[in-house]
Amino acid sequence: MATSSRRRCLNETNVFCYICGEYTSQHSRKTISDFVKRAYLAYFKVMLVDQDKPCASHIVCKPCVEHLRQ
Ligand SMILES: [Zn+2]
Repeated sequence: MATSSRRRCLNETNVFCYICGEYTSQHSRKTISDFVKRAYLAYFKVMLVDQDKPCASHIVCKPCVEHLRQ
């Protein structure tokens, strides 16, 4: 029961990019990998946090990943 309640929001929140907050179409979604977390930390100087919150977005869009990669 505990784990299923944590997942309740995922379907709605996982269509928005964690970084820019834009709606992200299915084929341009990227899951937040270790690379993204490290790049996010390096770029924004803050940890990519609240990934354990039930309503936090767990995807990023392709443009944001490309941006972080540079
Ligand atoms: Zn984005």
